[in-house]
Formats: sequence, structure tokens, C-alpha cells
Amino acid sequence: MAGHAGGGRLNQALRFALRTLGIAWAAPYTLLGLLAGTVGLAFGAKALWRRHDMAVVFQRIPWGPGGALTLGNVILHTGDSLDCACMTYAHNAGHGDEPAIILADHERAHVLQYMALGPVFLPVYLACGGVSVRNRFERAADRYAQTGRGWWPWPEPGDAATRNADPNKVDPDKSGPTNGRSS
Ligand SMILES: [Zn+2]
Repeated sequence: MAGHAGGGRLNQALRFALRTLGIAWAAPYTLLGLLAGTVGLAFGAKALWRRHDMAVVFQRIPWGPGGALTLGNVILHTGDSLDCACMTYAHNAGHGDEPAIILADHERAHVLQYMALGPVFLPVYLACGGVSVRNRFERAADRYAQTGRGWWPWPEPGDAATRNADPNKVDPDKSGPTNGRSS
């Protein structure tokens, strides 16, 4: 999408500033990722910079359960290419049939989450449930991979008002035109 002619440059400068801040903010995790990736290089891994994902990607990492792990602006991946298809957490948990997503899109959401939360990312991520469909960070990453937006985990479509909205049930206390949340 092209920006406006006037605001475009300002927008671009702002985005660049935010991105730079985000990268600095996530640096502790990035360093950890670079360290792990560098060890991986000695065991056959391959490193590349993926600008679109704002990440150094280490492919063919020879350990781990298979899949990808994002640490700041680093993605450690056991496979050959991050552009592979994978299933969403909801699909794997049997919450419904969902089309496959691209792994790179899912991991890019985590990169953005790291850049937003910086050092507190991991504690907050773990407090939200770790590697699980229960974790809103993972659901947000899947949502982002599906739609191109929604990488920030709050609020999410299943939250509060929307979760209680059962189309088959008329709640007399909630009759009326308001769809806003009450808490
Ligand atoms: Zn994930």
C-alpha cells in the first residue's frame, strides 16, 4: 500500500525510528539468539538476513524438537526454509479446521512482539502459557499469519465481550445496541 505523498515521509521516518528502538529493546534476546545460531553454524546451520522478517534466520539448526524458535530479531529454524507451510495451534489442538499458514509469517509476529515488549517478552510469554494454543501470543501470531494483522496479543477476538456473545442466546441484561466491552 502506498502512503500519502505528504505524510509518507514522516510516516517512514517514524516507522524507522520505532523499528530501531524495537531492535535495541529486543537486543538481549537477539544476542542470545545470535550466540545459539553461531554454535549452530559449526554444526551445519546456515545464516541469512531476511529483511522482510526483520530477522537473522539460522536454518538447518541441528537440534531441538523441529520447527522454529524466535529470540528477538533472530529466528532459529530446524528446517530448510522458513517459507514452508505449517498448521495453526488451533488446528493442531483440534479447535477446528484452519488452512495452513506460512511459518515465516507466524515467526515475524513473534519478532514484532519481541520488539514491542523487549526484555519483558519472555516472562510475559511464559506467564501466558508458553508454547500452547492457550497462549494468546501464539494465537496472535497465527492470526497475523492468516490475515497480515493482529500480532499484538491484546485484545483478541475471543476476549471478554466477544467470548460471551453467543448468537443463539439472548441475554436480557445485555439487550440494546451496545457492542462495547463493559470491563
Ligand atoms: Zn509461535
